[in-house]
Amino acid sequence: MNQSPRPIKNVLIVGGGIGGQSVAIALKKAGYEPEIVEVHPEFNVYGVGIIQQANALRALDAIGVADEAIRLGYPYGRVKLCIATGQQIGEAGTPPIGRFPSHNGISRRILHDVLFAEAQKAGVNYRMGLSVERLNNQPNGVDVTFTDGSMGSYDILIAADGINSKIRSMVFGEYKPNYVGLSVWRYAFPRPKTLDTGYIFFGKQSKIGVIPMTAESCYIFVNSAEGENPYIPEDQLVDKLKSYMRAFPVPLVQELIEQVTDPKLVNYRPLETLKLPAPWYKNRVIVIGDAAHATIPQLGSGAALAIEDAVVLADELQKTETVEQAFANFMERRFQRCQMVVEASETLGQWEVLEYSGQSLPEGANMGALMGKTTMALTGEI
Ligand SMILES: Cc1cc2nc3c(=O)[nH]c(=O)nc-3n(C[C@H](O)[C@H](O)[C@H](O)COP(=O)(O)OP(=O)(O)OC[C@H]3O[C@@H](n4cnc5c(N)ncnc54)[C@H](O)[C@@H]3O)c2cc1C
Repeated sequence: MNQSPRPIKNVLIVGGGIGGQSVAIALKKAGYEPEIVEVHPEFNVYGVGIIQQANALRALDAIGVADEAIRLGYPYGRVKLCIATGQQIGEAGTPPIGRFPSHNGISRRILHDVLFAEAQKAGVNYRMGLSVERLNNQPNGVDVTFTDGSMGSYDILIAADGINSKIRSMVFGEYKPNYVGLSVWRYAFPRPKTLDTGYIFFGKQSKIGVIPMTAESCYIFVNSAEGENPYIPEDQLVDKLKSYMRAFPVPLVQELIEQVTDPKLVNYRPLETLKLPAPWYKNRVIVIGDAAHATIPQLGSGAALAIEDAVVLADELQKTETVEQAFANFMERRFQRCQMVVEASETLGQWEVLEYSGQSLPEGANMGALMGKTTMALTGEI
């Protein structure tokens, strides 16, 4: 990327997740001075995996880390869609884009480390254990008071602080995440040698994905409908996850069941979406990633969208005359694409809820077709 000729320089990024670190790398390489504040004193990324489709890899390449992510992950082709006994009924996922494979499975921790290492190499400044207490968002800059009492003035503030974004509430008011009636259970395992690509098995009351994560490891996700979002005590997590797995007679799932032993390693969470109406900016604050458009993992694309946001925002800031126009152009390039993913994921989630509760799907509902159409659209230029 070229050095920025723009007068704006100092950028505060709130949140050091996938979106925050990606935009920091992109901006630092473009000649800006981004600073990340992260509320946690140290990163503690949970140890399951994340699916990166070809468009995610293309965006990671734009910030210089796709090859490292592929080297430390597990590239594979399209995901095999199967019934519970293992018989294949279709396949899903973006087709390859250029040299990028359909998918790269990677550990979330490793992806985080790859981004962190690149950001450190580029010279991004991190301030850990810190958040924003107050801000004064003006047409030409943002004055910030941090939670430790320190203050700073920035040309731009980028909110990348996730689905429960505090900055979003400060600037746009309250938007509550929408619980979709589904939950996800995840657990990591050594990779069975037969696991050569990603698999999703569709059952009557849940679905299970088995996804390679590195050459040595994989993870599973189980989607289930838990009704009114109940609290599940830790001492029930192992048994419940195993009972979902037992409903899938396919050997790939059966051979993993007895390896589920540690409740602390069962990652259980309800699934929520959030759609901030356009525009995602006001004066000099702009919201990206899950803070603006959180989706459920039905299309494995939330992080991909956050990385794409980072690439597009840095691109527009570099080539556009004013910040306001750059933000407007960013919205033009991002809003519909992100809405498309969140809405298609919500629809897929609603169909799953109906299916798992024994109800019939609306006429014409076709999960494979909706997944195919949406992931194909994601191969388009950003
Ligand atoms: C179960 C599940 C599975 C998923 N699987 C996939 C997948 O396979 N592929 C895919 O592409 N996407 C997937 N996603 C989506 C993906 O995880 C998210 O879209 C992505 O993490 C969003 O990144 P982000 O940086 O916007 O937000 P986050 O990852 O939420 O990061 C936000 C960061 O901000 C910090 N923060 C929060 N509040 C503050 C504050 N007030 N001040 C300072 N810092 C703050 C947080 O600590 C965190 O570090 C999945 C999501 C879920 C829920």
